[in-house]
Amino acid sequence: LILTFIEHQRGAIIDASLEALTAARKLAAGAGTSVEAILIGSNLRSLVDPLKGFGLAKVILAQDERLKSYVPEAFAKILAALIKERAPEIVIAPATEQGNDLMSRVAAKLDLGLATNCAELKTENGKLNLTRYIMGGSLLQSVELISSPKLLTIAPHAFAAEPAAKSEVELEIEELKLSLEEKDFRVQLKEFIESKKEGVSLAEAKVVIGGGRGVGSAEGFKILEELASLFGGAVGVTRVAVNNGWRPHDDQIGQTGQQIAPDLYIACGISGAIQHMVGCKGAKKIVAINKDKDAPIFSRADYGIVGDLHQVVPALIAEIKKLK
Ligand SMILES: Cc1cc2nc3c(=O)[nH]c(=O)nc-3n(C[C@H](O)[C@H](O)[C@H](O)COP(=O)(O)OP(=O)(O)OC[C@H]3O[C@@H](n4cnc5c(N)ncnc54)[C@H](O)[C@@H]3O)c2cc1C
Repeated sequence: LILTFIEHQRGAIIDASLEALTAARKLAAGAGTSVEAILIGSNLRSLVDPLKGFGLAKVILAQDERLKSYVPEAFAKILAALIKERAPEIVIAPATEQGNDLMSRVAAKLDLGLATNCAELKTENGKLNLTRYIMGGSLLQSVELISSPKLLTIAPHAFAAEPAAKSEVELEIEELKLSLEEKDFRVQLKEFIESKKEGVSLAEAKVVIGGGRGVGSAEGFKILEELASLFGGAVGVTRVAVNNGWRPHDDQIGQTGQQIAPDLYIACGISGAIQHMVGCKGAKKIVAINKDKDAPIFSRADYGIVGDLHQVVPALIAEIKKLK
């Protein structure tokens, strides 16, 4: 049995959970075992439908009004108890802040091995070989877990979320009986502060326009915003743009920022430092605009434009408007 923890936020299952579920299904198919999912929270019934078609044998619900948002100790207690009872071979969660926090608590509680941020899972001669991102994604590490069960978290965007088939079959649902105490609620989420962003989020945008030192000022980002809006995309930045106070840290792409995986990333006035590039390596196509023909980003880009972004970006905008 492979048990998969499904993270949801504000009434919706997050994409990284469906990606983790796809990874679990592929692993289970190779090992001839089944996958069950666990959801922890309140009012979970409405979240079951989106899980149809992912090849699940069962969905387990742990519901309590007090579990509306992530409660670290209570969640870890529920998951650890379930693992003890069902003895799965593998337990998988998305490598989000919540997934990594929860799984490290469970690993400590049950004295189990945990590999976080896995990007590849392979079974060879009965052994599970894992490749995980470390150092903010700038290195890949091969690991083998020797504990049983094995705990893994799956790096966001490492697998595409693919339902196995369109399925109308109702999923089997099991409700867990919970025995939670007051002390399980010592740590609680008080408030969820949304960043004041309009439009599509950086993590989900299909087109991202990146800006670095070459943009030159906060005002300089207006043309990048305009280009992004033509694609229904978002603007992302380098650490230099954040450090200069031109953009908020929320917009930063890279090792100490966000990971993006758009169809198209247009990097403007960005040199291509490794700490930035690890954040956009999931992009399907990279276009670099830089006035220095020797800028390292050109060796990582699919297309390059050597020129001043303050001329190239307005020209692109004008051309795209014509096409539209
Ligand atoms: C521990 C650590 C973590 C870090 N984490 C991150 C991170 O998460 N994200 C991140 O981005 N960085 C991170 N950095 C910083 C990173 O190393 C680089 O310093 C940074 O990415 C460089 O930003 P930049 O490309 O905007 O600036 P620069 O490296 O200064 O490059 C600017 C580029 O713009 C070009 N340019 C200038 N003017 C124009 C113009 N008018 N038109 C076109 N091109 C122009 C230049 O030719 C140059 O190539 C981290 C560093 C460390 C040590």
